[in-house]
Parts: sequence; C-alpha cells; structure tokens
Amino acid sequence: MTPLKKILLDEIKANGPMRLEDYMQRALADPTHGYYMQRQPFGESSQHGGDFITAPEVSQMFGELLGAWLADLWQRMGAPAPFCLAELGPGRGTLMADILRAARVLPDFIAAMQVHFVETSPHLRAAQKQLVPHAVWHDTLNDLPDMPTLLIANEFFDALPVQQYRKDGDSWRPIEVTAEGDSLVLSAGDKQATPFSDALTACLPAPLNEAVIVESAAAVEHAMQNVTEHIAKYGGSALIIDYGHTEPASGDSFQALRGHAPVDPLAEPGLADLTAHVNFPLLAHIAQRAGLVAAPIIEQGLFLEALGLSLRAQQLKEISPERTADIESERHRLAAPQEMGALFKVLAVAHEDMPPLAGFESGFETDLGS
Ligand code: SAH
Repeated sequence: MTPLKKILLDEIKANGPMRLEDYMQRALADPTHGYYMQRQPFGESSQHGGDFITAPEVSQMFGELLGAWLADLWQRMGAPAPFCLAELGPGRGTLMADILRAARVLPDFIAAMQVHFVETSPHLRAAQKQLVPHAVWHDTLNDLPDMPTLLIANEFFDALPVQQYRKDGDSWRPIEVTAEGDSLVLSAGDKQATPFSDALTACLPAPLNEAVIVESAAAVEHAMQNVTEHIAKYGGSALIIDYGHTEPASGDSFQALRGHAPVDPLAEPGLADLTAHVNFPLLAHIAQRAGLVAAPIIEQGLFLEALGLSLRAQQLKEISPERTADIESERHRLAAPQEMGALFKVLAVAHEDMPPLAGFESGFETDLGS
C-alpha cells in the first residue's frame, strides 16, 4: 500500500467520504506524497522509466514549430518589448528550450522576452532550471508580470482535479472516494440541485440521459479565467494543447497511467498519473466571456501540419540522413490520427486587438455565445 493510500484511508475512516476532486488533488499534489511532487513522470517507455510521454518529449519538432508560431505572432502584433513568454506546467522544460532555439532566428524576440513558468513541483522546477536557466518561476498564474503575454500550456489542464457528478432525476450526486477494508472505492454522495457553474452549464450537451456522468473542474475554470483576464488586460494570446473534446460532451474520462499502462486510479495514489479530458468548448467559452477571440478548436495533427511539420521533418532528414526513420516515426506519433494527432486538440485565444492567428483554418467553430 502506498503511504498516501494509508493516509487517505485513515482520513476517510475518520471523516467520511472524500470528493473525487479532493482525492485527485491529493494524489497529484500532496506536498509530500503527491505524484508530481515525487515522481519523474516523463519517459519514452516503461523500459526507460516514466509513466507517460508528451509531445515535446516525443520530438524537438513540436517545440520548434510552436517557436516559429510564437515568433511570427509576436512580430505581427507589433513586436512589443518587453513581453512575457509564459508557460503553465513546463514539465522538464523541453518545450520552452525547443521554442527558444527556434526563435533565435528572430534576435529581437529573444531580446524582448521574459520567460515565466507556473510550476508547483520543486522537483520539476529543478529540471526546468537546467534547460531554461533564466526563467522566473511562480506558484500561481496571479503573479505573471503586467505586460503583453504569449502563453502556452501543453498537457497542463488535464492535470488539474475534476469532480464528477451522476445524474439522478432532476438532481446530481457527487462521486466520492470511500473506504472498503483496505481499498478505496467510488460511491455517489447526497443529491444536489445544480452543482455546475454557468459557464459549464452553457457547454453541456442536451439532452443529458439518466445516470450520465458530467465532469466539472473548478480548478480548470479558475486557471482559464486567470489566463483570459490577464490577456484581456495586458494583450496577447494563449495557446492550449491537451487531450479532450471539441464539442460539448459528457462522460467519465478520469483515468490513471503508470509505466505507460492504464491502471486503477484508486489503487496507488501518488504513484500513478491521474488525468481527465479537457473541456475545450468550456475554455473557449470562458475566453469569449472575457472579451477575447477564440480560434476554432483544431486537432493537433492538422495544426502541426498547417505549421509546416512535414517540411521541418524533411529539413531534419536532410541534415541528419541517419535519423530518417526516427524523424518519420516522430512525425507520425505527433500527427497521425491514430496516435496523438486526433486525440489532442489545440485552442488559441487572443485579445481582440491581435492579428489573425495562424494555423486554425480547418478547426471547429465553437461560438456558444458569451
Ligand atoms: N508541459 C509539459 C508537462 C506536462 S505534465 C510537457 O508537455 O511535457 C503537467 C505539468 O504541470 C507538470 O510540470 C506539473 O508539475 C505541472 N502542474 C500540475 N498541476 C499544477 C498546478 N496546479 N500548478 C502548476 N503546475 C502544475
């Protein structure tokens, strides 16, 4: 039994069931035993350690293409100096390092930027410092500097806790974690009338069947509100990449990965990565409500191809012909629909004074009104 499981079982036996989002928060972010506080999550396969692999860890091309996108946007928005280049949940710092290497072709961009990281894990902050020594670190989004901001977040929102509710007639029952002997199990708590925010309510599909699960993530809404308020005030844009859905959706997406394999999310709190799918229409809606413009949500594969993935792969193959097979397989993993290409979505939101955002021509429109 993991130390955190023992602690949670004791707490539940003493105080009663725990809301799913509190469980997820503890499992991921408990200061001593939380997953991100103690583990090195990223790795190529179970043989090489790690529990999952993210796009920037698959290939340098991912960060390079985002770097070119950011540098182009910065130039077209009037090359503000100074400006804030912010990243939420930078992991090992690989994505920002690749962005900065690609952006070196535009020395004025490098001279004008201030890199700001929002990261809670001391362990990952240390890794980030190796790759991006000049970054400034923050615990929360509230501390970003008062200047035009280009913000990126790859696989950040999926790591924030969600609360599930099960429909029961006209009410909703919160999903809770309770104790059964030495096991943690899910149960449904007391009925509630309307547990959802106005923003989430606007983004739910209709009609909702009896017993359907709806996921509500206060932490996601809060983070997106902070991002959009900052951009509404100081200008700029946010680019959010994650797995999730393009249309309003319901259903259970709570899952755990350990050593690249799905595991029971309640079995080993602190040792497995827990995530839930990101509600992209909700993020777009929050941005539109704050007066920002949201580009159509697009699949990662289509976005990367629009940014020149095949061209960049070709260039790299010409520079390093001996890596041809690897580069081809990286391109495939990032963009093929059966790999990361279709599951992962991209949303960009921007201040209304920003120039058009490149790469979203074939995305899905999601104007749910503001
Ligand atoms: N963007 C990286 C890492 C994704 S993993 C990549 O693509 O490889 C999620 C990241 O978010 C980790 O760095 C984790 O420590 C961080 N994180 C998780 N919850 C957070 C929170 N509430 N506040 C700030 N960072 C958080």
